[in-house]
Amino acid sequence: MIAFYADHFVLPLPAGHRFPMAKYSLLRQRLLDERVLGREQLRVPEPASDEQLGLVHTADYVRRVAGGQLTAGEQRRIGFPWTPAMVERSRRSVGATIGAVRQAVRDGASANLAGGTHHAFADRGEGFCVFNDAAVAARVAQRAGLASRVMIVDCDVHHGNGTAHIFRDDPSVFTFSIHGERNWPFDKPASDLDVPLEDGCGDDDYLVALVRGLEAARAAFDADLAVYLAGADPYAGDRYGRLRLTKDGLAARDRLVLEEFRARGIPVAVTMAGGYARDIDDIVSIHATTIRIAAELVAKGGHMKERSIEVDHDRWFVKLGEHAPHPGIATVLFFPRNQQRPYRVAEVPAARFASQQELEALSDDDLLALFHASDFMDYVHEGGAEAHHPTRFAQPLPPDVGTGES
Ligand SMILES: [Zn+2]
Repeated sequence: MIAFYADHFVLPLPAGHRFPMAKYSLLRQRLLDERVLGREQLRVPEPASDEQLGLVHTADYVRRVAGGQLTAGEQRRIGFPWTPAMVERSRRSVGATIGAVRQAVRDGASANLAGGTHHAFADRGEGFCVFNDAAVAARVAQRAGLASRVMIVDCDVHHGNGTAHIFRDDPSVFTFSIHGERNWPFDKPASDLDVPLEDGCGDDDYLVALVRGLEAARAAFDADLAVYLAGADPYAGDRYGRLRLTKDGLAARDRLVLEEFRARGIPVAVTMAGGYARDIDDIVSIHATTIRIAAELVAKGGHMKERSIEVDHDRWFVKLGEHAPHPGIATVLFFPRNQQRPYRVAEVPAARFASQQELEALSDDDLLALFHASDFMDYVHEGGAEAHHPTRFAQPLPPDVGTGES
């Protein structure tokens, strides 16, 4: 998996400042030391431009941040003193999430080893957030035609107030926040889906609430891109979190969210968001686990790539199916964009399609032949969980499809 970092653009803070700025460089070092990522997988992002920031933020706010014209009150609200380095760092952090979104569309998932600055509004920052990276990246992706419907899943323990407010009238971006109800910020503009939790909430209650939330989000919105804010602050050892999740619980959370999108072929960009445990090593290990899980899912494959074919003026996306009905048989799924449920299914010998890469190596003609050998699929509900059952499997694959043999 490719990940973006900007920790070497240091944001200078006074001694004793409560924001654990060192966590970002420690995280990158931890990932290298533990061989979760190699150096060749780490990228330095471009700084976000005024034009990109202007897709979300007011021109006046961008100009005043860039030009050092924030008032003392505005700086206090953000929690960082203004410096030129603070501006550069903030631009790079947004650029890292833009980079992660672009890369996720290609690879299925990618990460910003910082970001998740969800308390930034269109015209102001607060709570250690200057610009809203997820919001800017979502709009950049839409503008570039990489996605049309974006879901932002915010699992930081604090409500995603800035993100909710920015997209309150935008039906093309779905905001989902699961957070401590009594925690800051006390004014919580409505997200498209809010899941408030009581103080002291532990792993089991959290994970049940998260599963239900993801189900409701899925039912309400067909996403073609997701941004995940994997805050480390629901952790029991967090100074400000007020919840009681264990590290295992947080890892289960990460798996649930990332698998939700992988299974549906939706690219996901991961950002780190908050984390204020007394021991900075706890914060770093929680973030590192998130990255490890995301990297494992990318390595496992199955994400939708930008492979598609045109059939009778419709564009169909294609990926390798997850659940083959029989040993030795794989399935290839065809679906229109924005309709993530597989729509047509072709059966193929598993030996020919052991990986997504082999599917991607097919010629367009072979893919088209496979499409015409595919059949429609139905859905049934089993015990509350949706399962897919082909009504009838396709005709056997023509012998010359997929292998180049005649
Ligand atoms: Zn937070």
